[in-house]
Amino acid sequence: MTTTRRLRAGATALLLCAGTALAACGSGGDADADPTPTLRTPPTPDVPSSTPTGSGKYADAFSATREDSVYPEIGDPLVDALHYDLGLEWDPSRDVLTGTQVLTFRATADSPTIPLDFNEQLAISELTVDGTPAGHAVEGTRLTVEHPVEADGQYELALTYSGTPRTAPAPSERQDFAQGVGWSITPEHETWTLQEPYGAFTWYAVNDQPADKAFYDFTLTSPAPLQGVANGELRKSTKDGGRTTNAWHLAEPASSYLVTVAFGDYQRTDLESASGVPIQIWTDADEEPLPGGLGTTPDAVDWLEDLLGPYPFDTLGIVVVDGSSGMETQTMITLGNNDYSLSPAVVVHEVAHHWYGNTVSPADWSDVWMNEGMAMYLQGMWEAEQEGVHIGQKMDDWAMFEARLREDAGPPGAFDPTKFGNSNIYYGPALMWHELREDVGDEVFFDLVREWPASQENGNADRTEYLAWIEDTLDEELSDFFDAWLLGEQQPPRD
Ligand SMILES: [Zn+2]
Repeated sequence: MTTTRRLRAGATALLLCAGTALAACGSGGDADADPTPTLRTPPTPDVPSSTPTGSGKYADAFSATREDSVYPEIGDPLVDALHYDLGLEWDPSRDVLTGTQVLTFRATADSPTIPLDFNEQLAISELTVDGTPAGHAVEGTRLTVEHPVEADGQYELALTYSGTPRTAPAPSERQDFAQGVGWSITPEHETWTLQEPYGAFTWYAVNDQPADKAFYDFTLTSPAPLQGVANGELRKSTKDGGRTTNAWHLAEPASSYLVTVAFGDYQRTDLESASGVPIQIWTDADEEPLPGGLGTTPDAVDWLEDLLGPYPFDTLGIVVVDGSSGMETQTMITLGNNDYSLSPAVVVHEVAHHWYGNTVSPADWSDVWMNEGMAMYLQGMWEAEQEGVHIGQKMDDWAMFEARLREDAGPPGAFDPTKFGNSNIYYGPALMWHELREDVGDEVFFDLVREWPASQENGNADRTEYLAWIEDTLDEELSDFFDAWLLGEQQPPRD
């Protein structure tokens, strides 16, 4: 996800932090850090022993599920989702979503029931497990299915549901989260989704936690001129009786927060990176086809591939929606229709997440800094290049306000759970990467930056694995350095 929009166009260091964080922005930080920094206690995720070895056609979606340490009420480690087949029909005349879903999952333990995330706005008319009707109940955001499962057994849960989805409150104070997370309906009866750190449960039955990756197929039906856009590749588009049905296939597993579906009156523009990555841009049919910086998307891919190696997926897309945020939804980036979200810098940021966030995703929300720190650092490098300033100057500018972000929302690796997505998870870790780069030199640093996502293709990791990998690769003990940047209540000293 991008940070919230700029305070004013052209300002290089002034980035707006939403809501009450506004006062923290742009003011001077405490450059003289405490020599004995106070560290916040790190989160203690319930870590699984190891990633299971998958077999069969969904092998790459086998996940080491866990209870999230920040948002334990969402998701359940019992379920390892392997494939979601989502048939979604949108009726804009009534704002009604009708879903026909088949979830293939692996149980990670014996249990008399199956727990999933769902909601009370959508009425379930039919639910079966392996073809047999099963009792079920929805309470709050929890769907409980009365069907016993055995450890390592695979099951097909099919359900049909219908209703008007409603967004859920976001655990965040960002202004671009004000409408809540999940399925949003516009005044024109078009729809879009934003679901970080969760919110997929507002429109399908899901294990809505980042540690559980799964494959997806979407069959999206709506009356013309609306059509459905989702992650992956558009395999088929048919028109029948004034209705359009688009079939999308996501060939690599994704965490639920990286899933996007939008129904709108769209036009499609096809672009391609220098390396041949096909890029589809989906924008409002009544507006220009490539608003803002969207025409620079191939350049963003080229620039990032130079630094990070080959783009890790087969396709890339951008869908512009009636929101105000930017989100790195896997292979189909979701951008709000405003100047900052559509800027070339945000395009670079969201494409960068395909290496940092998407091919390797955090296993726990306490490690969202693993996504945002590197995406922000790469965005900063790109901005410095565009502005003709040295990256060190850019980092000095950011350091001016980073200390205040940390004070407001906590250290990046132990943030206040009610302030998800505040700027603290972006700027401190970006400064940390720059310090490491200064320490080890460009060649070693960019080898690290390239090798980590390549070594974790379609995986999940937490900080324990990531930081141990860095220390092993560098053959250097860095725990004090990482602790100071990730858990320190104050900004650590900079070189
Ligand atoms: Zn981001």
